[in-house]
Formats: sequence, structure tokens, C-alpha cells
Amino acid sequence: MFTKIETARVYSMGVMEHGWREILERFTFDASYKHALAAQVYCKRIAYEVADDALQIFGGYGITDDFLIQKLYRDARVKLIEDGTVEVLSLEGGEEVLRDRAPSTRGHLKSE
Ligand SMILES: Cc1cc2nc3c(=O)[nH]c(=O)nc-3n(C[C@H](O)[C@H](O)[C@H](O)COP(=O)(O)OP(=O)(O)OC[C@H]3O[C@@H](n4cnc5c(N)ncnc54)[C@H](O)[C@@H]3O)c2cc1C
Repeated sequence: MFTKIETARVYSMGVMEHGWREILERFTFDASYKHALAAQVYCKRIAYEVADDALQIFGGYGITDDFLIQKLYRDARVKLIEDGTVEVLSLEGGEEVLRDRAPSTRGHLKSE
């Protein structure tokens, strides 16, 4: 759980710092959309996995109102849906990745 949270934190902070540097300091406006989408999907999935593991530790008590973990679990679960579902965000990110790679692939095929 610790490793998952830390990798999500490092990736999302890296994407945010890149955006800050490129937009606010260099004025290139290249915030790397594909990394922003990838970080969003990754963090949503990790948040859900960690909340799921945490709830499991509580056993049956985990789903009762007596403990905060049931709310954290529901909040993490809903993140897979709100602000864009992970499926739709992944499709959008996939398009960005392919858009970046397609020109070199086409060039390679042409020269053959
Ligand atoms: C707690 C909460 C707060 C929200 N707050 C706001 C808000 O403030 N403002 C606002 O405008 N909206 C808000 N929403 C709405 C939210 O943005 C939508 O629920 C979300 O975009 C998904 O749309 P949908 O519910 O219509 O699901 P659908 O679009 O009907 O999707 C249903 C399922 O099909 C999948 N799916 C859809 N299309 C594809 C595809 N092409 N390929 C593969 N899978 C696909 C989705 O990933 C999902 O799993 C909120 C939702 C929740 C749960």
C-alpha cells in the first residue's frame, strides 16, 4: 500500500511540475496531455486498490458505519466514475499516445 501511494504521488507530482514549468515558466503550453491523463487514471486506480486493501484489514467491520474506512472506500470507488470514467480517460490517453507515435510509424512504412 505504501509503495502504491508513493508511486502515484511521485508520478502525479512530476506531471504537475512539468505542467507548471512548461506553462507558467517557459510559456510553451506543452503540459503533456497524455501524461496528465495517465496520471489521473493511475491515481484513481491506485486510490481504489489501496482503499479496497484497507477495508479488507477491517474485515466485516469495514463496511459498517462505525468506521471511517467505508466512506474512504466509497469515495475512492466513485473516483473511477466522476470527473471522467477511467475507461473513457484511458481511451483519450491512448489516442494521445498513438498520435505521438503514428507519424514515425508511417515514415518507417513509407521508406520500405
Ligand atoms: C459523485 C459524482 C459527482 C459528479 N459530479 C459531477 C459534476 O459536478 N458535474 C458534472 O457535469 N458531472 C458530474 N458527475 C457525472 C459524471 O461526470 C458522470 O457520471 C461520468 O462522466 C460518467 O458518465 P455516465 O454516468 O453517464 O456513464 P456512461 O457514460 O453512461 O458510462 C457507463 C459506463 O460505460 C463506460 N463507457 C462509456 N463509453 C465508453 C467507451 N466509449 N468505451 C468504453 N467504455 C465506455 C464508462 O466508462 C462507464 O463505465 C458526477 C458523478 C458522480 C458519481
